[in-house]
Amino acid sequence: MTEAKRITHFINGAYWSQPAQRTGDVYNPALGQVTAKVDFATVEVVDHAVEVASKAQQEWRNASLAKRTQVLFAFREILNSRKEEIAKLITAEHGKVLSDALGEVTRGLEVVEFACGIPHLLKGSYSEGASTSIDVYSIRQPLGVCAIISPFNFPAMVPMWFFPIAIAAGNSVVIKPSEKDPSAVNLIAEFWKAAGLPDGVFNVIHGDKVAVDRLLEHPGVSSISFVGSTPIAKYIYENGTKNGKRVQALGGAKNHMLVLPDADLDLAADAAVNAGFGSAGERCMAISALVAVEPIADALIAKISERMSGLKTGDGTAGSDMGPLVTAVHRDKVASYVDAGVREGAKLVVDGRNPKVNGAAEGFWLGPTLFDQVTPEMSIYQEEIFGPVLSVIRVNSYEEGLALINRHQYGNGTAIFTNDGGAARKFQNEVQVGMVGINVPIPVPTAYYSFGGWKNSLFGDTHAHGTEGVHFFTRGKVVTSRWLDPSHGGINLGFPQNR
Ligand code: NAD
Repeated sequence: MTEAKRITHFINGAYWSQPAQRTGDVYNPALGQVTAKVDFATVEVVDHAVEVASKAQQEWRNASLAKRTQVLFAFREILNSRKEEIAKLITAEHGKVLSDALGEVTRGLEVVEFACGIPHLLKGSYSEGASTSIDVYSIRQPLGVCAIISPFNFPAMVPMWFFPIAIAAGNSVVIKPSEKDPSAVNLIAEFWKAAGLPDGVFNVIHGDKVAVDRLLEHPGVSSISFVGSTPIAKYIYENGTKNGKRVQALGGAKNHMLVLPDADLDLAADAAVNAGFGSAGERCMAISALVAVEPIADALIAKISERMSGLKTGDGTAGSDMGPLVTAVHRDKVASYVDAGVREGAKLVVDGRNPKVNGAAEGFWLGPTLFDQVTPEMSIYQEEIFGPVLSVIRVNSYEEGLALINRHQYGNGTAIFTNDGGAARKFQNEVQVGMVGINVPIPVPTAYYSFGGWKNSLFGDTHAHGTEGVHFFTRGKVVTSRWLDPSHGGINLGFPQNR
């Protein structure tokens, strides 16, 4: 039995020294053992973090763009040279395989690199002589203290969708990572300090609803960036905006992959397996509903099943393809969906409920699972399962498949597989989903575009990173200026007009 370590808050450039009143268990899901206890912040701890962040932001907002960029570049170098350390922490607490964990850090790094260009991104515009002797120009300024509340499934990448841009723009950050895998963000806080970020600009508080609720109501918090399940995203959006905060709240997903009869079925089968079972299906961009346009369903299912028989489930450090689920509770919930699918009449093609694994017997295992003959009213189709369960829905036409996708409550990501450029173009135009892949199963936009879904997959107007991220973390201001010249003056009570 490994001895449990303590994971605590990082506020004002240092770890919190006082004991916690409440803590949570952090597991190594491949071992099924508690490996750490994470402190849960009280209202007082949250208040202290916000106060510190607010004070630090007053100076940081006035640091020159040159100075802020230097810190960002230094952070980028440290993160890049030590990304394996973060990946190991992620594998130990989340369970995803090491290469996948490294992949998520690398995608987060892209946002840091994007934020290194902040001087260009913050450039305003200038109109000389908008009226006689009057110039008009626009600037963008930071918001203040930005709160980030992140989910368990990407303990490093999702926080990095937000904080590099928030900090580059001159804000300070209070982040509450998922209590299930909290270590990665603490190491990131150490990297910021080593990069020369002033103490108090990046603060980590750990905890649960108590900490989140305090962030939602704290008058010192300007914005909330949330990623997690849809009911909580809705709650965050409603309560954050009610309290006058700017909120972006990204929720759950059910991502469809539409395979047309002319598609390359080998490519489609590879993509379905990679996107369905990578990270044990615990990805917001995982493919969980495969919509096969007849007559190809039988052939496609045969190719997918064949590939699934070669997948190795096991400890993420041991060369497996797929790791465990994050907790025993979550594993049991996903397994209960498999039971429900059988009960509701779907055909279980591959059953992952008793998997052969390369890992400890106590690990939170569930093998890759494939259903055929899934129909739209079944719970395994309606709801987000967030595990290694792929459902095949058979349809008879492109139109039927499109209508199915557009009717679904979620609209995060989707993909079409076809060799017909015209059909793909029609799909990108007609599908009501925020991120679309054409022969690409996990279309996560690159950092200089913005990430976000439609419908119940996102509450708020602004997607993450890219130009929308820069807008979210800044407020626009327009200045109309006249420097006195002797020809001006006099009284005129009329509304100012440009002359
Ligand atoms: P979750 O909603 O349980 O938790 C997310 C965060 O909210 C955590 O920090 C958690 O501590 C906090 N939280 C949980 N319950 C709360 C409550 N009652 N009140 C206030 N705060 C609360 O989500 P999760 O299980 O950590 O993550 C998986 C979910 O996140 C999935 O639904 C997945 O689709 C979604 N997700 C979406 C995206 C996206 O881009 N749309 C990306 C990643 C994950």
